[in-house]
Amino acid sequence: MELYSGKINKLIEELTSLPGIGAKSAGRLAFYLVNQPEERVKQLTDAILDAKKNIHYCKECWTLTDEEICPICKNPKRDHTTIMVVENTRDQAAYEKTGKYEGVYHVLHGAISPMLGIGPGDIRLKELMKRLEGDVNEVIVATNSSLEGETTAMYISKLIKPTGIKVSRIASGVPVGGDLENIDEVTLLRALEGRTAL
Ligand code: ZN
Repeated sequence: MELYSGKINKLIEELTSLPGIGAKSAGRLAFYLVNQPEERVKQLTDAILDAKKNIHYCKECWTLTDEEICPICKNPKRDHTTIMVVENTRDQAAYEKTGKYEGVYHVLHGAISPMLGIGPGDIRLKELMKRLEGDVNEVIVATNSSLEGETTAMYISKLIKPTGIKVSRIASGVPVGGDLENIDEVTLLRALEGRTAL
């Protein structure tokens, strides 16, 4: 039995497909949205479409940006010889929020997961290796401490070792399986400062 009209159901269904939105929240959002003035709803849908159309990957670090080269890569004050490798743009933002990291980043957009069928070729590893042909002193691997994050860190270490470039891994203290973006800044800084050679 359909509880609501088809169009409301369709909206709830779409919202439920978003990460972190369960059926209950989706219902709440759907009724909130249909009760808003049309102009307000248009602002929201325009913002989504605008972001989708104009945001792409930075040509250097592969983070999401609306410029060709992101502001961090463009900044001459950043240390371009130190590259921190993160799984996604949200993890990058978490480190950026500490305000203490002066190097640049490399965003993989995922982690190696044999279980999910995600191999080295499915994340931005080739692009990382390409960057290492330039002037790079250290690669800090800041993937999550999940099984996937650790697998990826080991893989990167093996890949980089022959180049002679220093590879380090952020210290544990970041809870196992913890998403970097949910960890407080002090813990992140401690993990960065306590990094060890791989
Ligand atoms: Zn960039």
